[in-house]
Amino acid sequence: MEHLQETNARHTVLISGASIAGLSTAFWLSKYGFKVTLVERAPHIRPGGQAVDVRGPALEVAGRMGILNDIRQNSTKLKGMSVVDAVSGKEIYQNIKQTLTGGRHDSADVEILRDDLCNVLFQAVGSQANYIFSDSIVRLDQDESGVNVTFAHAASQRFDLVIGADGIRSNVRKIVFGDDEKFVRYLGHYVAIFTIPNYFDLEYWEMIFQHEGTPLAVCIAKERADEARAYLGFSSDKPLKYDHRDINTQKQLIMEKAAPEIGGMISKIKELMHSSTNFYFDAVNQTIMDTWSKGRVALVGDAGYSVSLSLGQSTSVAMVGAYVLAGEIAAHKEDLQAAFDQYEHELQEYILTNQNLAFQTSIEPTKTLGKHSEEGITMETADLPDFGLSVIPLTLKNY
Ligand SMILES: Cc1cc2nc3c(=O)[nH]c(=O)nc-3n(C[C@H](O)[C@H](O)[C@H](O)COP(=O)(O)OP(=O)(O)OC[C@H]3O[C@@H](n4cnc5c(N)ncnc54)[C@H](O)[C@@H]3O)c2cc1C
Repeated sequence: MEHLQETNARHTVLISGASIAGLSTAFWLSKYGFKVTLVERAPHIRPGGQAVDVRGPALEVAGRMGILNDIRQNSTKLKGMSVVDAVSGKEIYQNIKQTLTGGRHDSADVEILRDDLCNVLFQAVGSQANYIFSDSIVRLDQDESGVNVTFAHAASQRFDLVIGADGIRSNVRKIVFGDDEKFVRYLGHYVAIFTIPNYFDLEYWEMIFQHEGTPLAVCIAKERADEARAYLGFSSDKPLKYDHRDINTQKQLIMEKAAPEIGGMISKIKELMHSSTNFYFDAVNQTIMDTWSKGRVALVGDAGYSVSLSLGQSTSVAMVGAYVLAGEIAAHKEDLQAAFDQYEHELQEYILTNQNLAFQTSIEPTKTLGKHSEEGITMETADLPDFGLSVIPLTLKNY
C-alpha cells in the first residue's frame, strides 16, 4: 500500500507545525519537487524562545541548505556572561570566553534566538510552500492512496502524506499514535521562557541569577535596545496537572513554584513576565517512541524524538531529522514504508545517544556556576558545563 502514486501531478504533503522541524522539512521536500502545505496553530510563525544551538551535523545540514551564513549573521553573538546574586543582583562571576547557553566563543557551533532561526528558515522556504495559519488538524483518515485531512477551520483536503512537526505535545502524534503519556518521559523540571524589556541593560550578554550555588534564572539580550529573553524554572518530583493551553495558569505556576522565597531579582523577572506576550511553558520532557511513522504519517523533531531542553540539542536534532526524512522520502517515492524505515535506521542511534546524554545531564546535581571571591568579581574558571562538547557526530548521506 504505502507508495506514492506515480502520476504527473506533484506529490502533496501536509506538515503540521511551522517551527524548526516543520520549516526544515518543508524546505527539503519542496526542493525535491513535492507540493507542500504547512498548517500552524499560531496566527503566524510562532515567535518566542530563548537561544537554541546549531551544532555538529546540523551545521552541515544548514550548509547544504545554503543558510549557514544567514544563521551566523543572525546569531546571538554574545560577548560573555555574568553570574549575579539572585537577591542583590551583585555580580559575582564573569566570563568573556564562553557562555552557559552558547558554549565557547571559539567553537564552530552557532547560538541563535529560536525565532531568528525560524525566520531564516521561513525566508529559505519562501513561496515554495503554502501556509494555513491559525488552524489545526482534527482528524486524519488514511487509505491505500492518501490521507483525508479534516481541519478545525479550513475545508477538508486530501494529501499523499502527512508529517507531524508539531512539537513535544504533537497533535498528529496524539491523533495517530495515542496520548502523550505513552511517549513523553518527564525529566523532573519545568521551564518558562518569555520576552521581557531589557531591564538589566544587557548588550550581547548573558546574565545568570544564582542563589546559594543554585542557578535559578537566565536572561540574555542582543542589542541594548532589544528585549531580553528570560528563562525561569523549577523542579518537581512528579509531573503537574495543568491546562497546556492556559497561559495564565502557567504564569501562576511560575509565581508560586519558581523560588518564591527569594524575592530580589527573581521577583523582578516574575513581575516583568506578566506583561510578556511571548510566553512558553512546559516540562523538560523527552519523546520516546518505538517508531516514528504509521502508514502515510510520519513524525519529525520534538513530535517524534525530543531530546529535551537540558542540552539545547533538540533544534539541531530537528534540522538533521528533517533532512534525513525528506531525503529518504525523495529517494523512495515508490515505497513510502521503505522511506520511513530508512529514516529510522539512519537516525535511531544518533537520537538515542543524544537522548541518553540529555537524560544523564538532567539527573546530575546542579553545579554552582560562579564563585564569590574576597575581592568581589572573579574571572577564575568556574565549573561551567560546555554542552558543545556533547555533540553526537553523524555521517549524512547525499540525497
Ligand atoms: C515558543 C517556543 C519557545 C521555545 N523556546 C525554546 C528555548 O528557549 N530553548 C530551547 O532549547 N527550545 C525551545 N523551544 C523548543 C525548540 O524549538 C524545539 O525543541 C526544537 O527546536 C525542535 O523544534 P520542533 O519544530 O520539533 O518543535 P517546536 O519548536 O516546539 O515547534 C512546534 C510547532 O508546532 C506548532 N503546533 C503545535 N500544535 C499544533 C497544532 N495542533 N497544529 C498546528 N501547529 C501546531 C507550534 O505552534 C510550533 O510552531 C521552544 C519552542 C517553542 C514553540
